[in-house]
Amino acid sequence: MNAGGGLDVLGVDLGPGVSAGFSNRSGGSSLGPHTSLNLGYHVGDDWDRAYANRQVLGGWLRAPITMTTQVHGADVAHVDRYRPNMKRKADALLSTTPGVGIGVMVADCVPVLLADARAGVVATAHAGRGGLVGGVVPNVVAAMVAHGARVPSIRAAIGPSICGRCYEVPEQLRTEVETAVPGTAGETSWGTPSIDIAAGVLSQLKAAGVQRISRVDDCTYEDERYFSYRRDGVTGRFAGVVALIGPAPSHA
Ligand SMILES: [Zn+2]
Repeated sequence: MNAGGGLDVLGVDLGPGVSAGFSNRSGGSSLGPHTSLNLGYHVGDDWDRAYANRQVLGGWLRAPITMTTQVHGADVAHVDRYRPNMKRKADALLSTTPGVGIGVMVADCVPVLLADARAGVVATAHAGRGGLVGGVVPNVVAAMVAHGARVPSIRAAIGPSICGRCYEVPEQLRTEVETAVPGTAGETSWGTPSIDIAAGVLSQLKAAGVQRISRVDDCTYEDERYFSYRRDGVTGRFAGVVALIGPAPSHA
């Protein structure tokens, strides 16, 4: 773990003119269980440190980052300018404005970044169990299309999350989620029922027609470079962030 050390963002390629990546605990100034690049205002950290950490990550992204209050829902919010303290509750964000960064905070849930570089549309989605079953992934793809994206041109990146060998749930819940999103039922490494949220996100992206999908296989519960709510309880949040950084594309 490099917490307290330098920033160590994993960049992902979502096309020309798009900046995107996933942070971890490294970099920033938060202390204790929030060491050190905590981005959440709602997790008991010092507000000024979390704010400063967002600025650090925005510097990497080359755009200030707007994030919302995430409620495990499926709503998509359009962000057309930087809002340092957006109150709106939404689990997916969309932007068509160069220089306006958007981000999704997580600590075990699945962060998803999407872009149609040619159309100039970027988006994020926060997919935990609730968002997965509620349809946040197909909703954000549909919102991108409504803003000019073409599904075959969309690239998506699935970020670090708790894996299907670690996310233990009661048997009945496994059955409910499997019924809603087939392919998610699993078993933990210690032999109890589990669900694989990232596998569900992947199948929903494919079902929506998205073909160019990359995936970071790191498990937040097993890998201490990441914040993990299930492992640590009181902890911080890392993020997936994306922005259009080139000039506004033409829509010819
Ligand atoms: Zn795991």
